[in-house]
Amino acid sequence: MVDYGHFIGGKRVAGTSGRKQDVMQPMDGSVRGTVALASAQELRAAVENARAAQPAWAATNPQRRVRVLMKFLELVNKEYDELADILAREHGKTIADAKGDIQRGLEVVEVCIGAPHMMKGEFTDAAGPGIDTYSMRQPLGVVAGITPFNFPAMIPLWKIAPAIAAGNAFILKPSERDPGVPLRIAELFLEAGLPAGILNVVNGDKEVVDAILDDPDIKAVGFVGSTPIAQYIYARGCANGKRVQCFGGAKNHMVIMPDADMDQTVDALIGAGYGSAGERCMAISVAVPVGHDTADRLMEKLIPRVESLKVGPSTDSSADFGPVVTREALERIKNYVDIGVKEGAKLVVDGRGFRMQGYEDGFYMGGCLFDNVTADMRIYKEEIFGPVLSVVRAPTYENALSLVNDHEMGNGTAIFTRDGDAARDFASRVQAGMVGVNVPIPVPIAYYTFGGWKASAFGDLNQHGPDAFRFYTKTKTVTSRWPSGIKDGAEFSIPTMN
Ligand code: NAD
Repeated sequence: MVDYGHFIGGKRVAGTSGRKQDVMQPMDGSVRGTVALASAQELRAAVENARAAQPAWAATNPQRRVRVLMKFLELVNKEYDELADILAREHGKTIADAKGDIQRGLEVVEVCIGAPHMMKGEFTDAAGPGIDTYSMRQPLGVVAGITPFNFPAMIPLWKIAPAIAAGNAFILKPSERDPGVPLRIAELFLEAGLPAGILNVVNGDKEVVDAILDDPDIKAVGFVGSTPIAQYIYARGCANGKRVQCFGGAKNHMVIMPDADMDQTVDALIGAGYGSAGERCMAISVAVPVGHDTADRLMEKLIPRVESLKVGPSTDSSADFGPVVTREALERIKNYVDIGVKEGAKLVVDGRGFRMQGYEDGFYMGGCLFDNVTADMRIYKEEIFGPVLSVVRAPTYENALSLVNDHEMGNGTAIFTRDGDAARDFASRVQAGMVGVNVPIPVPIAYYTFGGWKASAFGDLNQHGPDAFRFYTKTKTVTSRWPSGIKDGAEFSIPTMN
C-alpha cells in the first residue's frame, strides 16, 4: 500500500488536512493506496517555499538552469521502467503506452533545454538619436499547473519544464487519481540539482484548486482537463487577475475521403479510436466517411478489427488497451452506450459485456462501435472519453467539413485522402487547433505548440513550443538614451519617432 502526501520544500511530507482518498489500480480494481487532499494552509506552505526559493533561481544564469533539465533526462531514462510501471498501475493504460506518456513529456523537456535561446529578447540599435530599444523576458515568479489523470507524466512535464527553465517556481496539482509519477518526477528534479522549493507537488481536489486560484502570490495557472472545469478555472483565475490558460475536452473527427487507402485508414483509426481505452484528448471519437460507398467499405474492414481488439491488464504486453481509470468512468461510458442505443444509433460492436478473466474486479470494457450516428445525438455532441467510436455518414466533403466546424469542440481533427487539393482545403478551412493529414493523432512535435480551438481551450497561448515561454514569462521593454542630449531640457509632449 502506498500513502501519498505532498512534495513541499524539497521533500515528501505527509498531508495534515485529515482528508484523503483512495488511489486505485484499475487493472484489478484493488486499492493501491491513498492520496492526501491538501487544505488551503498546506498550499500556502508550498507557496511560501516557492516564493522564498524563486529569486535565487531566477538569478541563476539560464544555461545553468537548463543543466538541471539535462540531468533530469538522464535520471528519468535510468528509471523509465519503474516510472512506466507506476503509471500503468495507477492509470490503467498498458506499459508500452505509459512509456509513450513519459516520452512525450521528455521531448518537451529536451526542447526546454533551449530556454536560453527562447528567453532572448529583441534589440533595436539607434531607434532614435542615441536611443536603443530592447526587450527582455522575465519569469513571473510563482506559477501553478493543474493536470488531468490521463497523462500523468506528459502533461505535468509540459508545464513544469518551460516554467522552471524560464526561472519560475512551480506548484503542481496533479490528478488525485494517479499521483505516483508526478511525485517521483519532483524527487528526480531535486536529485538533478533543482533547488528545494522550485518544484512543489500539492495533491488534492477542488479545495486546493480553489486555494490556488485565489492565492495572490500565484501569478499564472495552466490547466488541462475537462471543459466545464476548464471554464470554471479560467473564469475564477482571470477574475483574480492571474494569467490563465485552460485546455479542455475534445470530440475529434476523422474525415475519410472516397480516395483514401482503406487499409491504412482503418489501421490509423483503430489505434486512434481505441488506444489508451479512448482516454486521450486527441483520440478520434468520430469517423466521418464521405459517401455511402466509402462508409460501407470502411465498416466492412473496421467491424472485424473492433471485434478482435485485445483488451488486457496494463502489464500484458500484447494488449491493445487496458481498463479505464475508475469504476465511475466505466459506468459513465457504458451509460453513454445505452444512451446511443436509445437515441437510435446502430451499435454494431458492443463491448459492454466484456469481462477480463482473472481480473473480474478491474474496470474493463470492450471496444464499442456505432454506425448511423447523427449530429443531434448526445453520443455525438458530448465527450465520452472511452473506447467508443461513432461513425457519422456524410454525403459530401462540404457536409463532413461542416460537421467538424459546427461541433462545439475543436481540439484535433484529421483527413484521410490521397488528394492534395482536398487535404489543403481541409487544413485551411477546418475549425480545430491541430490537424492531421493522413495522421490520425496530430499531436504537434515538442517545438511546435499544442492547443485546441472553441470549447477545447480558453486563453490565448498554447502549451509547449515557443508559446510556453511566452506564457511563463512577462516582457519588459527598455528604451534607453545615453548621449549628452538627455541634458537638453524637459520634454512635455509624448516622445515619437517623427
Ligand atoms: P477533470 O476536469 O475531471 O480534472 C482535471 C483536474 O481538475 C484534476 O487535477 C482535478 O483534480 C481538478 N478538478 C476536478 N474537478 C474539479 C472541480 N470541481 N473544481 C476544481 N478542480 C477540479 O479531468 P480528468 O477527468 O482528470 O481528465 C480528462 C479530461 O481532460 C477530458 O475531458 C480530456 O479531454 C481532457 N484533456 C484535455 C487535454 C487538452 O490538451 N485539451 C489533454 C488531456 C486531457
